[in-house]
Amino acid sequence: MFDLPEDIKEIQGLARDFARNEILPGAAARDHSHSFPAEQVAKLAEMGFLGMFVPEQYGGAGLSTLAYVVALEEICYADASVGVTMSVNNSLACWPILAFGTEAQKQKYLPDLATGRKLGCYALTEPDAGSDAGAQRTKATPLPGGGWSLTGNKIWITNAPYAQVAVAYANLAPEERHRGVCAFIAESHWPGYKVGKPEDKLGITSSATSELIFEDMHVPAENLLGGERQGFKIAMATLDGGRIGIAAQALGIAQRAFDLAVAHAKSRIAFGKPIGANQAIQWMIADMATRIESARLLTWRAAVYKDGDDKARASHMCSMAKLAASETANFCADRALQIHGGYGFSKEYEVERLFRDARITTLYEGTSEIQRIVIARAYLG
Ligand SMILES: Cc1cc2nc3c(=O)[nH]c(=O)nc-3n(C[C@H](O)[C@H](O)[C@H](O)COP(=O)(O)OP(=O)(O)OC[C@H]3O[C@@H](n4cnc5c(N)ncnc54)[C@H](O)[C@@H]3O)c2cc1C
Repeated sequence: MFDLPEDIKEIQGLARDFARNEILPGAAARDHSHSFPAEQVAKLAEMGFLGMFVPEQYGGAGLSTLAYVVALEEICYADASVGVTMSVNNSLACWPILAFGTEAQKQKYLPDLATGRKLGCYALTEPDAGSDAGAQRTKATPLPGGGWSLTGNKIWITNAPYAQVAVAYANLAPEERHRGVCAFIAESHWPGYKVGKPEDKLGITSSATSELIFEDMHVPAENLLGGERQGFKIAMATLDGGRIGIAAQALGIAQRAFDLAVAHAKSRIAFGKPIGANQAIQWMIADMATRIESARLLTWRAAVYKDGDDKARASHMCSMAKLAASETANFCADRALQIHGGYGFSKEYEVERLFRDARITTLYEGTSEIQRIVIARAYLG
C-alpha cells in the first residue's frame, strides 16, 4: 500500500477542512486559557468522528482503523488537545466495550459514546501503577448480593472532568498483581464516583485531565467487562490499539511543525537571503520530511494490520508506529523551533505550543521505553 484508497482520501479531506477552518483558529487561545474544546468536540460528534470504528448498528461510523488514523492526524495538525479527546473516546472507551462487552453492554453504552451524547474515559493509571499497570491498588470487593465495590485513586485520566462513562480498572487481589485485575464500566453519576483535581500540564493544555476517585462505588454485576480477572488482558489489548491513535496525533504535530518551519525558512531573511538558502537549514528540513514520511507509512501499515487477522504482528506494529511517530514529533517540533530562532521561544508563535504538545507523545499510552520492550519481545520472545 503506497497511497490511500479513494474513500479514505475523502475522509481525510473532510477532516482536513474541518480542522483547518474550525479547530486551528482558536487553538492558541484555548491553549493559553486551558479551556476545553467543547464546541469542537460536539462538531466532531456530528461528523461521526467520536465512534469511527464502532459499527453502524451501535451508532458508530463503521470505518476502518486506517480511516481513523488519517482523520486523527488531520485533527491533531490543528490542535493535539482536540485530537486526544477524540482518540480517548474512540480507542480507549468505545473499543474495549466493542471488543469485550456483552451484547447488552454494547447496546447500552456504545450508541451514546459513538454519537457524542456521552464522553468516555479510561481509568487505568494510579500513583504507583503507570508503566507497571499490574500494580493496581484500586480494590474491587465483591458485594454479598452481587456486584462490586470499588475504592481507590486514579490519576492522569484524560476526559475525566467531562466524561459520563469510564472504563475503569480495579484489583480483586492486589497481592496477585495483574492476575487479579478486573475491568468495569462505570457511570459518573454513581455515588462514590468523584472527579479529583485537574492536572496542571506542560502541553495539550486544553484537553481535560484529572484524578478520579472511587469511594465505595457500587458497580452492578452486569457492568463487569469481559469477566473476572480479565482486566489486565483488556487493558493491554486496548493500549495496543490505542497507541496507533497517539502515533496519528504525533504525526499531526510533526506535520504542522514541518509546514511552519518550511514557511519560516522561506520568508525569514538573514544576511540578505532567506535562511532556507543555508545548507544547515536545508538539512533540518530534509531530516524532518524523511522522518515524517517514514513514520506515516509505518502508522498506515500498522492500521491495516490492526484490522487484519495477525493480531500479534499488529500489536508490535502499533508500538513501532507510536515509537517512530512520537520521536519524530519531538524531533520536528525541536527543529521547527530552532528554525524560528528566538521567535520560536515566544508564546505568540505556534511552534512554541507544538514543542510543548509533542512532549506528551513519548509518555502516554506506553512510554518509548515500554514500546521498545513490546517490539523487542516480538523478536526475542
Ligand atoms: C497528559 C496525560 C494524559 C494521560 N491520560 C491517561 C488516561 O486517560 N488514562 C490512563 O489510565 N492513564 C493516562 N495517563 C498516564 C500515562 O499513561 C502514564 O503516565 C504512563 O503510562 C507512564 O507511567 P508513569 O507516569 O507512572 O511513569 P513510570 O511508569 O513511573 O515511568 C517512569 C520512567 O521509567 C521508565 N520505565 C518504567 N518501567 C520501565 C522498564 N521496565 N524498562 C525501562 N524503563 C522503564 C519509563 O519509560 C519512564 O521513562 C496520562 C498521562 C499524561 C501525562
